[in-house]
Amino acid sequence: MIKALLDAQDIKLTANEILSKTREIIPTEINRTLLTDWAEENRTLKEGKYQGPYSYDLAPYLREIADNLSAASEVSETAVKKATRMGATVGLHENWIGYTIDEDPSEMAYITSSDDLAGAQMDLRVNSLINSSGIADKIGNVEKRKGEKTSGDKVTQKAFPGGYLMAGGPKAPFIKRQFGFKKIATDEVDEFPDDIDKNGDPIGLIRGRVKGYGDDYKILWASSPKLKHNSKINRLYKEGDQRKYYVPCKHCGHKQPMKWGKKGERGGLKFEHDEDNRLIYRNGKPAVWYECENCGGHWVEEDKELFLSDKTMGGFAAENGKTVYAEWRPTAVPRRKNMRSYFLPGFYSLMSTWETAVLEFLELKSNGFPRAEFQVWVNCFLAETFEDSGEKPKIETLLTQERTYHKGSLPLNDKPLFVTLGADVQDDRIECEIVAWGRDKESWSIDYKIIPGNTGDTEDACWNALRSIITSKYCGMQPVLTGIDAGHKTDIVYEFCDRFESGVHPVMGSDKVRKSCEYIKTFAVQSHTTPRIDINTDLLKQEIYRYLSKGQFESGKFPHGYCHFPVEYERKYFNMLTAEERITVRDQYGHINYKWDAGKRRNEALDCRVYALAMVYAYYQASDENLRYTGQLEETEPFTWSDFWDYLEHEELSA
Ligand SMILES: [Zn+2]
Repeated sequence: MIKALLDAQDIKLTANEILSKTREIIPTEINRTLLTDWAEENRTLKEGKYQGPYSYDLAPYLREIADNLSAASEVSETAVKKATRMGATVGLHENWIGYTIDEDPSEMAYITSSDDLAGAQMDLRVNSLINSSGIADKIGNVEKRKGEKTSGDKVTQKAFPGGYLMAGGPKAPFIKRQFGFKKIATDEVDEFPDDIDKNGDPIGLIRGRVKGYGDDYKILWASSPKLKHNSKINRLYKEGDQRKYYVPCKHCGHKQPMKWGKKGERGGLKFEHDEDNRLIYRNGKPAVWYECENCGGHWVEEDKELFLSDKTMGGFAAENGKTVYAEWRPTAVPRRKNMRSYFLPGFYSLMSTWETAVLEFLELKSNGFPRAEFQVWVNCFLAETFEDSGEKPKIETLLTQERTYHKGSLPLNDKPLFVTLGADVQDDRIECEIVAWGRDKESWSIDYKIIPGNTGDTEDACWNALRSIITSKYCGMQPVLTGIDAGHKTDIVYEFCDRFESGVHPVMGSDKVRKSCEYIKTFAVQSHTTPRIDINTDLLKQEIYRYLSKGQFESGKFPHGYCHFPVEYERKYFNMLTAEERITVRDQYGHINYKWDAGKRRNEALDCRVYALAMVYAYYQASDENLRYTGQLEETEPFTWSDFWDYLEHEELSA
């Protein structure tokens, strides 16, 4: 304990040493000017859409947040989970920096997603702020007075009387070392790595930098959220009091936080579109409106300035004559002392329109909600985290799920409808999984086998072993379809498959199938009797991850796609099954793309499951074709998945 205190003391001393160098001329009385007052008196915007004197009337929802950063406020931490285009960079970050330099000097850090971005922000925006707010003469004075060689004005470091400002990315040295800051402004927190060069969680590290100041510190956390499982801003939002911006209805005066509308539910952003997902316009105006959750009355885009008006702006008179105004309301008890948190989705922005958001949404809808683009929309407009099937299933969930059967068998009451087999071919072995499938793709892994051997030799015993696995019965059923990875030993796999009368296919991942958004496509291959099945590994892996993440219902029932495993499977197997991660990459043109990455982990179990699932799709397609061929299904009649399961269950009964 004493040692810990001494260590803490050390940090304080270090901070104090730095302080004493710059604090000689710090104002003695505490400054009580509010940040918002300072900004509106001193700031002029010289670039961008809005030029001229800065006013929080352009973003009234930022007023309270900005004043948490004022010297007089007792709030120490402010977290803002926000959409993009909300005016926060200017209204919060820049204004806070200007206010700090001019009115409330102290040691300050500005941390954004990368060193480069921090440099660019300082170079382009902070310098412009300094030059246009009459505070340029303060920068660099300290060093000059002391006759030091280094200037106090560098791109990522500024010194001013009573303080300094350092800027960088989350891996900047000043975050890891014993620097002390009284104020830390962060931006794009969700892009910070989960672990800073093995020093741990960035949030903990950043909090460590203000420790020397007791409660007398300020941190601004700001970001649009990203993925649910590791969103930092979402975690921070939940630590605070979770404020929402309540805006009044112009008709009934009822205050409500804004939201995306739902079909058949009153309230929220609503719109009309035609069959082709095109937004409807009437008299040149888009059919987009906000519906009051209380009276059902409509608000239009032009009403934003009215209903956003807060107390300082005087609010407005609703139709019932009552004066109403917008306000932040806490919705939870904060888990951290003096911490406030704010949720700021794009509905409120005066810098972008509802029409734009709806057009973006309809574009996504007509393209079948492509995952990467849809995530951007959810994160940047709704300001909500995105949860998708690309996220790794939690291995602990898989390890702790209830398992009730042994390899090669099934639980007594389960009745799968058919069995498929997926095989992955490596140089020195074949790995394969036998999977039984039930209605709605509920699955039971029957066995996972590793057959060592030289796969480059068609006469090697491993191929014979695979053959006998394929022709064996499992729970009374022989695999209806087998998919064998042909990406590696293409000719040998083709030849092997040709030896079966039917049901055993070479399988290959295909970009073409991926681009067409199909799951599988069957091709005849020249000089071979067996068709090849090309597969969309991206969609299949997403689907498997979605299923692997599902838990058993409390009712004891199993959800769509639930995966059962035998008691013998160990951690090693589940590590392989969840080895890959779907990561977003940008190509040279800046387009978002994604790839599956296993790092250095083994992933054969996932591949086998992908081939086994691809065979379920192949069986569905084959059944469809067969039913039409035999006249049991009319050409124009659809054959849905539900029809497929009905058909199989019926077969089962009549068999
Ligand atoms: Zn209303």
